Amino acid sequence: MTDRCNLRCFYCMPEEGLNWLSRTELMSYDEMLQICSLLVKMGIDKIRITGGEPFVRKDIMPFLTALSKLYGLNELTITTNGVLTAPYVKELKAIGVKSVNLSLDTLDANRFFAITSRDEFANVMATLDELLKYNIEVKINAVVMDGKNVQDIMPLVELTKNLPVSVRFIEEMPFNGDAHIYNGLKWDHVRILEEIKKHYPELKKLDDPLFSTSHNYQVAAYAGTVGIIAAYSRTFCGTCNRIRITPVGELKTCLYDGGILNIKDMIRRGDSVDMLTKTMMDAFGTRAKDGWEAEGLRPANNSVHESMATIGG
Ligand code: SAM
Repeated sequence: MTDRCNLRCFYCMPEEGLNWLSRTELMSYDEMLQICSLLVKMGIDKIRITGGEPFVRKDIMPFLTALSKLYGLNELTITTNGVLTAPYVKELKAIGVKSVNLSLDTLDANRFFAITSRDEFANVMATLDELLKYNIEVKINAVVMDGKNVQDIMPLVELTKNLPVSVRFIEEMPFNGDAHIYNGLKWDHVRILEEIKKHYPELKKLDDPLFSTSHNYQVAAYAGTVGIIAAYSRTFCGTCNRIRITPVGELKTCLYDGGILNIKDMIRRGDSVDMLTKTMMDAFGTRAKDGWEAEGLRPANNSVHESMATIGG
């Protein structure tokens, strides 16, 4: 939707923000709708709206409503930080949004401020309440960061005791807008799982849904589930079926690639639907076999340190 965000999570974006995209660089709502409509005709049946923070873009609801009406689209979902989202939840439910990913790295208001540089914890929790009230499935995304929120792993697991939410612990990736501050991965998926098992030896492995990026677990008799996403280790690439389109219209066939082609530019220069379809099909057919290969194919001057806000997560 946008590269702009109202939080400054240190692992995603520098405090001063990014060199924000201009309105003309961003895809317009019309262009996004055209692209989504074509992709749905080509067989895509699930769309996730993300950013930056989707709800900082003006007039998002009419766009989401139009998107929700695309014939052939089975699932429209959103990833949000929850700061501005609560007042929209009722409408999201009304247009058929059944699942929302809510980013929440800690259940402690002080640590929330330390991680995000913004005093918005109460608003995020209000969004969680509202999503639960409207029976929208909630997946909580929590990035595990050494020295920052490791003490939150157990409280987040405990949240699944009474709430029917899926808490997913994510490996920290180097996409932080600054090439110099990623010191390597300290908490990989194996260590996260070991830590949880230390406290919950009875943790049960669940069957993972088809194309799932998370390995899923449940503490016996708890209402919710726990997932671990090996986003840096990239152990799930073989079953990943996702494509991404950045706010400027760049198609990515892997989170780690540097952009394959620009769909917005093709639309603006008047390329035909046939041409768009063929070019995208070629891109899907020649995607890297995994995130390591995709990263390796990036030019040397384009290493994986752009902000995740320009990719979507
Ligand atoms: N603003 C929305 C939000 O916070 O959910 C959507 C965009 S945000 C970039 C999407 C997800 O990417 C969030 O869950 C965030 O925690 C995650 N993310 C951002 N930078 C990351 C990084 N360096 N490593 C792992 N996850 C990251």
